[in-house]
Amino acid sequence: MQKDIAKWFTNQLLSWYQQHGRKTLPWQINKSPYTTWLSEVMLQQTQVVTVIPYFEQFTRRFPDVISLAGASQDEVLHLWTGLGYYARARNLHKAAQIIVAEHNGRFPVEFEQVLALPGVGRSTAGAILSLALGQQYPILDGNCKRVLSRFAAVAGWPGNKAVEQQLWLLAEQVTPAGVDVTAFNQAMMDLGATLCTRSKPRCVECPLQLNCRAALAGDQADYPGKKPAKTIPERQSYWLMLEHQQQILLQQRPASGLWGGLYGFPEFSTEQLRSDYLALNKLQVTASAELPAFRHTFSHFHLWIKPQLVQIKTKPDSVQEQSAQQWFTIAQLPQVGLSAPAKILLQQLQAMQPLE
Ligand code: SF4
Repeated sequence: MQKDIAKWFTNQLLSWYQQHGRKTLPWQINKSPYTTWLSEVMLQQTQVVTVIPYFEQFTRRFPDVISLAGASQDEVLHLWTGLGYYARARNLHKAAQIIVAEHNGRFPVEFEQVLALPGVGRSTAGAILSLALGQQYPILDGNCKRVLSRFAAVAGWPGNKAVEQQLWLLAEQVTPAGVDVTAFNQAMMDLGATLCTRSKPRCVECPLQLNCRAALAGDQADYPGKKPAKTIPERQSYWLMLEHQQQILLQQRPASGLWGGLYGFPEFSTEQLRSDYLALNKLQVTASAELPAFRHTFSHFHLWIKPQLVQIKTKPDSVQEQSAQQWFTIAQLPQVGLSAPAKILLQQLQAMQPLE
């Protein structure tokens, strides 16, 4: 980008921010590197309105790094339930424990140390240090990528390394030394979230319109470039909702992988394996019902969930031996992290009449 255009961009955005920027979001009040970190992680792939109640609940329960580090993973995941992308919560928890162990519980203020925390990339590290402490780092979250790719007509999908590097270069050019970086970075995010939106950007109100190449050409919808299309495969999963006297059996998933550390129902790759489980454990079925199948979509595949509710006469002994499985009372949602579909099924179960 030409120097004079970059300078114009910076000044336009800063004066727009003074008038229109968001300055009263919960994480902008009494902000610290800790609260900025929490909000930045929560805001990854999630909209502000969704994040607000989670942020408030989280900071009430975990007002500082030390309280977060000292919590159980189950509790952290429980407070995260519904926000999605659970690796973010596991990484937050892990990072808090690292901060306690390696930085005496004080959030690090050196870029490399922040970047070394699990779940923190270059943009998040820059956002934490610039927004909370005014350190001079550019950012490049989804909003900034959209604004910059449209403004400079950068073609290609930002997930592509070369395109991303080009966008970082632009971000550095419009965030020069000496600028009020806290206001500027917040302005970039705000402009992307409020005017330069994914669909129907409000270019007539935008302070960058005069020199925005996409707005001048009228091809805003072409930026940022789309991810090359690929068909998402489908998988099936047969879930077993084992019920005994108003209690339900849940199973904790392995710490890593899909829904890592969250609780859900025992699952099987085929219907046959699910019925074999009942037979193998000599479970006396008193009633059973197939619940409607539904689809849950992950970034790389669709999962068809086929739940079966089975009422049994006595609890199987084998279950007690497997620590990953536990019985919970149906009337009360368990205080552990639940996968979103498991939570939906539990809520349905609470509202259902008994099978018999
Ligand atoms: S003029 Fe339109 S496309 Fe360009 S940055 Fe502003 S809102 Fe986005």
